[in-house]
Amino acid sequence: TEAWGPDDDEPRRHHGPVRVRVPAKINLHLGVGPLRADGFHELNTVYHAISLFDELTARAGDTLTLTMEGEGTGTLALDETNLIIRAAKALAARTRVPAYARLHLRKTIPLAGGLAGGSADAAAALIACDLLWGTGMAREELAEIGATLGSDIPFLLHGGTALGTGHGEAISPILARPTTWHWVVAVAEGGLSTPEVYRKLDELRAGSWPPKPLGDADELMSALRQRDPEVLGAALGNDLQPAALALRPELADVLKAGSEAGAVTGLVSGSGPTCVFLATDAAHAGQVAAGLNAAGVCREAVTARGPMPGARVT
Ligand code: ATP
Repeated sequence: TEAWGPDDDEPRRHHGPVRVRVPAKINLHLGVGPLRADGFHELNTVYHAISLFDELTARAGDTLTLTMEGEGTGTLALDETNLIIRAAKALAARTRVPAYARLHLRKTIPLAGGLAGGSADAAAALIACDLLWGTGMAREELAEIGATLGSDIPFLLHGGTALGTGHGEAISPILARPTTWHWVVAVAEGGLSTPEVYRKLDELRAGSWPPKPLGDADELMSALRQRDPEVLGAALGNDLQPAALALRPELADVLKAGSEAGAVTGLVSGSGPTCVFLATDAAHAGQVAAGLNAAGVCREAVTARGPMPGARVT
């Protein structure tokens, strides 16, 4: 009998559609080290994937196209600059297959919100195209390709709660008993540019010498293990928050409104302007969201849970 047929030499192409769901991230801890000579900041961060999702669908095609609906439609470029196209092409180049696919994005994660929506979409594109093209890459290999495009991409392939070091691209999972945390996400009107927020931070720090050292995430990690929202709330922190507040002073009103609505604590998510609030349970999160929406300080406040898995085929 034949051990293998002619098809076995061919990549095992999937005829699609392949549908991938990917979460947004927040940073439970974001430590930013001093600006280095190479222009990068060393980071020490605890990523946490939450239940706010983008969805990418990939179908076989004879060229590479991207269409979208939802958040940012009409604003977000769908050309070569889009991280989805860049991720698909990077995978195709690495695996020597033609970058042919019809991709469609259903976007819920706000643009330039500090929730890593672009990196999430790139992670989804890597998973979707790998399956569509039958290129069979390991998650680690996809993370390596992803890291060349954006520091948050390896985490969004991984999901859950994880420590990120280097520029955030080096991920180690945090092993803790499974606990669901309840969040309220206050989406702002308009975005903030991540490089601009880092520049503002450098400016705010310029006067202080010696440079603030990069702290570790130990307090946050031990708080996660205690499974108590009050304890976790006290350990949350974001070194970029003063810079985001300096660029967008209204965010102070959002943080105040969340606290008045009864949140355990609130902070700016990543580079902002999204603010996130910790609640004690799902019902409490609903109350905090209602309070924020009534205060009229943000575009929309929604509830979310975490941790969530990373980019996955649905
Ligand atoms: P981060 O927290 O990783 O800094 P962010 O959440 O602040 O990111 P994103 O929405 O991820 O911001 O992206 C910022 C910019 O990246 C956008 O303004 C856009 O110009 C560009 N971009 C490229 N591709 C995408 C994409 N698929 N989705 C969103 N933004 C994209």
